[in-house]
Amino acid sequence: MDGLTRLEDAQQTVLDVTEPLGCEKVGLLDALGRVLGEDIIAPRANPPWNNSAMDGFAVRWEDIKKEHEITTPPVLNIIEDVPAGKVAMKAVGPREAIRIMTGAPVPNGADTVVRVEFTEPAADSVRIMQQEPQGANIRAKGEDVQEGECIMAKGVPLRPAEVGMLAILAKSFIFVHHRPRVAILATGDELADLDERFDEHKIVNSNSYGIAAAVEEAGGIPVLLGIAKDDPSSLKEKIAHGLKCDILVLSGGVSMGDYDFTKVVFAELGADMHFWKLAIRPGQPVAFGTIQGTLAFGLPGNPVSSMMTFEQLVRLALLKMGGHRLLKRPTVQARFQESFSKQPDRRHFLRGIIERNNGELTVRTTGKQGSGILTSMVKANGLIDIPEEIEQIHAGDMVTVQVLSQNFQ
Ligand code: AMP
Ligand code: MG
Repeated sequence: MDGLTRLEDAQQTVLDVTEPLGCEKVGLLDALGRVLGEDIIAPRANPPWNNSAMDGFAVRWEDIKKEHEITTPPVLNIIEDVPAGKVAMKAVGPREAIRIMTGAPVPNGADTVVRVEFTEPAADSVRIMQQEPQGANIRAKGEDVQEGECIMAKGVPLRPAEVGMLAILAKSFIFVHHRPRVAILATGDELADLDERFDEHKIVNSNSYGIAAAVEEAGGIPVLLGIAKDDPSSLKEKIAHGLKCDILVLSGGVSMGDYDFTKVVFAELGADMHFWKLAIRPGQPVAFGTIQGTLAFGLPGNPVSSMMTFEQLVRLALLKMGGHRLLKRPTVQARFQESFSKQPDRRHFLRGIIERNNGELTVRTTGKQGSGILTSMVKANGLIDIPEEIEQIHAGDMVTVQVLSQNFQ
């Protein structure tokens, strides 16, 4: 396909030249959403000892087991009280009980906890009114976490559950990957920035904001470089600032028009170019090279094209650099509700609405699919992935859809 790179090859190239960044130490309260940079090996078991799951009495099951066969319920002597946070001084002997609170370590000698509701306690003794099975209401040492077990592997993004577990393991500081810094540069004489006064012939630089948001969503730190004019020196000067970052993302100026200087300037800066044109739609012109160690992406200017190529390529680089192990969006199979035809050349990504109908996932397009129709991205919760070779999809066929948000569940 005349110089077009297949998306999966382009993605492999991106992954091949992207290295994960190093790590920094953060406090647990700053860990949410960060990517773990170390394997977490449990320094101790959780629970650290057998403990009671109920308020009640720690007993020997031997002493209570025949309760249902005898007319008089067993009465045990209470020899000690153990609130949570305390450890029993005594061991439970025959016909003895220790009053115990939830979470307290189970005293030696006891193998069962009878919940308080099953008893009639008096001052120094307790009557067991209902039997418990042997071992009841005891949470075993290590039933959650064994000492020396690998609880989390590096590369996972930290959610509240992981943060809670790290606290259980008494990790107040952990190593997480640095967040990649991403320089974002818009190009085009027709562009004006949000806060600028501009005439009716200008259009607002929306790409930089959409890309900045996508960078943040993927865990990066956006650095906005503003707008470069359509001339090589303006472009070169702005790009030079961007080379301090880990990744540089340009939008616009990457096609073959008279004012598209990205290619020229990348070359002047000594870029090692990896590819220029992708076999996808939207988003065919995409430049990717390495300039002085910075990964430089030139995305097309049309808003949908820039978002789509970010989604399929830049996001991969960002996630890998950020230390993530899982790099791809989840996909689902859904029944296509329309028919669609195309040339058997490029891979298409239609903006789609995934729905659940009678227990089955279906997908329909958002409507007009032009590369300037940004509402197609606003309405979409998925991207319908139509492979290069396919010419025709009929209503009722199953298609693969990349899931952007789970709001169809
Ligand atoms: P280009 O790839 O430079 O030929 O740009 C294609 C079209 O994309 C332009 O005509 C603009 O309408 C639009 N465009 C380019 N850059 C931006 C931007 N930063 N924000 C919004 N639209 C843009
Ligand atoms: Mg332009």
